[in-house]
Amino acid sequence: MDPTTRWISILGIAALCFGLALFVLRVPVRTILIFFAIGVPLIVLWLYADEKSKQQKRVNKISKQGCICSICKHEQAKVCVDQKCACCIMMKGSDIMGHSINPLQ
Ligand SMILES: [Zn+2]
Ligand SMILES: [Zn+2]
Repeated sequence: MDPTTRWISILGIAALCFGLALFVLRVPVRTILIFFAIGVPLIVLWLYADEKSKQQKRVNKISKQGCICSICKHEQAKVCVDQKCACCIMMKGSDIMGHSINPLQ
């Protein structure tokens, strides 16, 4: 996890915990909602950034592999990633999930 992502997660969790602590102290709900309004988007942002960095790592790993696909005839999986070959790149929405070097299996 890179430092920015870590800080976002810490701030998000801290804001939510603080909100919960205020709830126990019977602070007016409107005040607590402010902390939740800060905490929830931070957590969402963190999960999003985390998913993006995981995706980046996955793509980097795939890019180092070779490709023996008989359909696109690429030798480097990096080319498949760049072109998002339907024959050997596994997609989930717009995210690359993996590279299958043996699609016929
Ligand atoms: Zn390929
Ligand atoms: Zn292919």
